Amino acid sequence: MTVSEALGVVRAEETNVLPRFLDLAYPNVERGEGVWLTTVDGRRILDACSGGAMVTCLGYGVRELVEAAAAQAERISYFYNHHFTSEPQERLAERLLEVAAPGMARVRFVSGGSEAVETALQLARLYHVERGETSRWRAITQAQAYHGSTMGTLALTGRRALREPFEPYLAQHLHIPPSTWRFDPTGEAALRALDRALEEAGPENVSAFFCEPVSAAALPAYSPPARFWEGLAERRERYGFLVCFDEVVTGVGRTGRWFAGEATACPPDLVAIAKGLGAGYAAIGAVLVREHVYEAIARGSRRFPLGHTWDGAPLACAVGLAVLEALQREGLVERVRERGPGLREELAAALAGIPIVREVRGHGYLLGVSFVDPRDGESFLPPELRVAARIDRAAFDLGLITLSTQPTRDGYAGDQTLFAPAFVATDDELGEMVARFAEAVRRVAEEVDRELSAAGRLFPSPTGGPS
Ligand code: PLP
Repeated sequence: MTVSEALGVVRAEETNVLPRFLDLAYPNVERGEGVWLTTVDGRRILDACSGGAMVTCLGYGVRELVEAAAAQAERISYFYNHHFTSEPQERLAERLLEVAAPGMARVRFVSGGSEAVETALQLARLYHVERGETSRWRAITQAQAYHGSTMGTLALTGRRALREPFEPYLAQHLHIPPSTWRFDPTGEAALRALDRALEEAGPENVSAFFCEPVSAAALPAYSPPARFWEGLAERRERYGFLVCFDEVVTGVGRTGRWFAGEATACPPDLVAIAKGLGAGYAAIGAVLVREHVYEAIARGSRRFPLGHTWDGAPLACAVGLAVLEALQREGLVERVRERGPGLREELAAALAGIPIVREVRGHGYLLGVSFVDPRDGESFLPPELRVAARIDRAAFDLGLITLSTQPTRDGYAGDQTLFAPAFVATDDELGEMVARFAEAVRRVAEEVDRELSAAGRLFPSPTGGPS
């Protein structure tokens, strides 16, 4: 395909790109403005997922971000941070600590979420090694999670479907179930599982506990109950492992706080951030560490040379700085905090009465809808029905981008949708997103209802839960 032949929809056999899914036809996006996208064939689509991946928190076409990037590129866009630091890197680190994360002591910039989480994993390990506790390397994580696609971060998820082909490369970490209404509404079962994992690994071998304080795509808008966080903090105190929060999605305002971890009773030792920091205008992530983590290195080897070519590049940091300035100046984190509960209620009201909808969760502008088998209102839907994919398709047909997942075979979550609009969406735009989404869910629910009643024998009645 040449540029002049740009197609409205691109299929695997028509492109030089290796697509994510070879059986999907990819619409060809051309421009964005605010929360609206335009494809090369002129379709206008409303984006309820901030660039599809919870990234573009300030929307598309933001002049000041484009100008900040251009101005920095005119001065110097890139230099390796082995040789130089730069004003944008220094100012962004200072600003992040001052505005967003006053409890943290230092920042290491990277280029994305997987790099941020993997760097946190390395720093947690280094913390123990520097202090002479060299046996500590294993991580304990929440099984129903996504922390990235590198081998280091893939080993942190317990999701079989993601891990399977790469299993030989993955380190043996331990995983505990999430405390959802289905398994563990109080958080006590997860704490017992944590105790068993600590015992199995031997607490002296455990480096860190990793989780998202509020889950994103893996279990949209889920957060463990208060008792879990208290119990986690007690065990950290007792056994000396570190707590690392993956705030790749939740960091920088998504839940109505600068960091979602602020709302837990377990302040983290390390935090990984990415997505919203660059807001889709630059590839940037970061790891923030507390003083004792920094001090272990400062008093020890005084080196952490591992890193990536684009870490702390002036261009990316200048964009990050402009993003923080815009968020702060426009009071957008506060807007998300104030508007979020209402948005969740509007979403719940619009979906009320649709028999496949079980739960509408939400923290700020990170909302999640979980779907169940309408025959008992409780069990996972038969995976063959591919409800998640059908909802995204129905939404797209109605001109809306949503992000749905179907991790059923991993046992802890069924079909669900993540709803994560840009912080700048107007009330009218939010209302339109909710209306289109509800219509998409209603259409799929009707199809599901017909298919389940027509083919009762093909879809055995629900058994009440996962394996
Ligand atoms: N952690 C979480 C919670 C994520 O949602 C993602 C990506 O979706 C990552 C880590 C990995 O980030 P990236 O895709 O930027 O490497």
